[in-house]
Amino acid sequence: MAEVLIPRSLFLIEDFDNLIIDVEDLCSVSISWENGFVSELKPLKNKATKPKNILFPRFVETHSHFDKSFTWEDFPNLESNYRGALSINLEEHKTRTVDKVLKRVEKSLKLALQNGYRAIRSHIDTYKSQSIDIWIELFELQKKFSTKLTLQFVALAPLEFWDTPNGEELAKFFSSNGGILGGVIVPPFNKKDTSKFLSKMLLLAKKYKLEVDLHIDESITEPGAGLKVLLETIENLKINNVPITCSHLSSLISLSHREILNLGEKMAEKNIKVIALPLTNFWLLNRDNKNTSLKRPVAPIKQLQKSHVDVSLGSDNVQDPWYPFGNFDPFYMLSCSIPMLQLNPWERMTLSSIFLAPSRLLNLKWDGLIKKGCPADFVILDAKRWADVFSSTLKRKVFIKGDLYC
Ligand SMILES: [Zn+2]
Repeated sequence: MAEVLIPRSLFLIEDFDNLIIDVEDLCSVSISWENGFVSELKPLKNKATKPKNILFPRFVETHSHFDKSFTWEDFPNLESNYRGALSINLEEHKTRTVDKVLKRVEKSLKLALQNGYRAIRSHIDTYKSQSIDIWIELFELQKKFSTKLTLQFVALAPLEFWDTPNGEELAKFFSSNGGILGGVIVPPFNKKDTSKFLSKMLLLAKKYKLEVDLHIDESITEPGAGLKVLLETIENLKINNVPITCSHLSSLISLSHREILNLGEKMAEKNIKVIALPLTNFWLLNRDNKNTSLKRPVAPIKQLQKSHVDVSLGSDNVQDPWYPFGNFDPFYMLSCSIPMLQLNPWERMTLSSIFLAPSRLLNLKWDGLIKKGCPADFVILDAKRWADVFSSTLKRKVFIKGDLYC
């Protein structure tokens, strides 16, 4: 049993009447768990003793790149722009082996577990000459970690890969093992070719009942160009049962408020989900021009939410040519992002983008709401207010199925 504070929108309780709620929407509750599940959740009656801990559900990482994590040291991108990241990433590919990738994945997973994640989606660079071996190993790891963490893999390939026999073979393999089709749509691109290959990819996903997760409009030029092609392509194909995630969408921020809402409505209609990735976007983009305006692109989270698009926050790269910092810690990502994005942590829609939308995106069995019967999967902090959560001296305990993990 523990007496803790939980943000009001992150739990469900029957007895609302006597709930003590502080100015930052943190509620005093007592929580018990048994055999790995929450057995009781009730309001704390005593106003005089405010709990000294904040409890969160374990976190969900919607977007990462295990295969290249911690390569910064050997492959630094000191110019820190998108072009540099891409070319150094290709240099790193030349030295890449299955063994090296697996070591990076295991190191990343170890950190992620200690820091409080319960599920992670990672993109894995995929190209024509690659053998299927890496995927067999990755799905083995997925199984090995499955009691502690849900893992999802996206094959991040050039769009045209999905129109090759190797692409078809991988999609078929994914249909029995799990796996998501990925690709990149970033301007400048040939609209006709992009639409053609995107169609092939979507039809392949439909054929094998797979999801699609795209790196799209990770740019500052031609705002929303990729998204517009995607929406047109879906319209022409008349398919509506392929789950689609748009990662990045950072250039959308340069469109007018009206245009964003219009596109948002179309996305919501088609149940297209969005992952905002402020850290890499802010770090990499809009570096090349000579101006000093500090104009930073990122998916317009609040407008998209207003259009009923399900928006999740994600971290993206960790210590690789795309982003030199980070360590698979949700509190690092949040400490940087929350103030930059002007998201109030005490608001429901902010907490949705951190906990609930990511659980929906990964289609997890548990929606992330703390309630009677939910898994006892928590991160419990030495904290009484939001200022303590985003602090450099943060102390945490991670519980997995009711047991203290670390
Ligand atoms: Zn990415």
